[in-house]
Amino acid sequence: MRVNITLECTECREKTYLTSKNKRNNPDRLELQKYCPRDRKVTLHRETK
Ligand SMILES: [Zn+2]
Repeated sequence: MRVNITLECTECREKTYLTSKNKRNNPDRLELQKYCPRDRKVTLHRETK
């Protein structure tokens, strides 16, 4: 049930993180506060396809 996803920074569009999620627990698009090395601060990261 786990799928690989990419987390993209919503501010600079950098694809910063590769991760996986459980489709059953998180059927919707993931949004996480993560550190972006390009912005050098914590920004909102969103799942991309
Ligand atoms: Zn960024």
